[in-house]
Formats: sequence, structure tokens, C-alpha cells
Amino acid sequence: MSAVLDEARSAVAAASRRLAAEGLLIGTSGNVSVRVEGHVAATATGADLSRVTPAEVTVVDLTGRVVAGDLEPTSEIDLHLGVYARHDALAVVHTHAPAATALSCVLDELPCIHYQQLMLGGTVRVAPYATFGTPALAASVVEALTGRSAALMANHGSVTTGASLDKAVENALLLEWLCTVYRSASALGEPRVLDDEQQAAVVTAAIERKYGTTRTLGDDPAEKQESR
Ligand SMILES: [Zn+2]
Repeated sequence: MSAVLDEARSAVAAASRRLAAEGLLIGTSGNVSVRVEGHVAATATGADLSRVTPAEVTVVDLTGRVVAGDLEPTSEIDLHLGVYARHDALAVVHTHAPAATALSCVLDELPCIHYQQLMLGGTVRVAPYATFGTPALAASVVEALTGRSAALMANHGSVTTGASLDKAVENALLLEWLCTVYRSASALGEPRVLDDEQQAAVVTAAIERKYGTTRTLGDDPAEKQESR
């Protein structure tokens, strides 16, 4: 097997351990995958995600046929493959994280309550409930992710995607934070929601200020102007 796929198995194992340490993956609940070279490396079903090893990450092709690893891949492999078939994502994280799962039992969508939610595409849809591991669940989640990098799964949990494994992990942490904030705010009253105009202004400001990246002092044309 190629060194790239070996590396992918190690990266998926490390990402799973990190998400378990953060409290997002609990026991054997949840799964992580990355797409590389026409293959998908995904955590094995039944693996303890807090101490998963590269050997507990199974590599399948895009039709789900196992090409490396001795263990059966996650029972949600169809969900992962469905996301890769339909969306641009290169990594998928599925969790039963507490705040996301709590909101998935109550909401039809998570409204945009904070500007950081725009990193996930804004309002987060809640995919209708279906039994775990079924094509019906995979289809509803794939649909809910249209134009988004996060979705909640009714009475089940959450899914995030990313252009890299790190980004999908970061999005999972962001989604759980947003769900925690929404839950806390809801206990105090009806949370205010950012309207379309406010959301558009955030996108404009983020582009102008290259939000989320570090910048060397003096890189900003406005600052150069001032220093003249
Ligand atoms: Zn699940």
C-alpha cells in the first residue's frame, strides 16, 4: 500500500483521538474519514475512538470495497462515500457530541446566531431521522450538507466536512461550540438571529480582512498608507 494511504490512516487515527479527547467522540460512537488518491480511509466499526490506531482505520475505494485493513469500516461508510460523491469535501467527521445531539432532538435547523457560524455556511440544517447505517440516513445527510460544511442529524448527532482532515475536525469543534452557545442562550431567552444583511456584511468583512489567518504587521495596505 502506498505511503500516502499509510499516512492517511495515521492522520485519521490521530484526528479521532483528538476529537475523543475534546469530548466529541465518545467510546465507539462517531467516525472519521479522509479521501486520498481515489480512496477513503475511515475508522473501523467498533474501534475505541479515544485510542484508535492506524491498524483500526480501514481503506476502501469509492465504491466501498475494502482495499487495506483487516477490520470492517464504520457502519456509516455509505454516509461518508455519499458525501464524497456529491460534495467537494476531502474529509468527514461524524459525532454524537452532546450539545449537537441535544439540539438535533429539538430543532429543525440551527439558525445563524454568531458570525463564526458563517464558516460552516450559515444556518445548519437538521437532516430528518433515519436508522443509523442506512442508505436513507446517508441520503438525508448528503442533502442537508448542500452548500454547507456542517449538518445536524435528527436525534442522532452531527456531521462536518472540510477541504482537509484538520478543517473537518476544526469544523466539528466549531459546530459543537455553536450548539453549546445556542443551548446556553436558549435557557436565558429566545436567541437573536443574524439577518441576511448582517450575514452578508460578515462575509464582506472576512474577505477584506482575511479573517482566520495571521498577518505580518505592515501587510495591510491601510496600515502602509498610515505609516507614510
Ligand atoms: Zn452515529
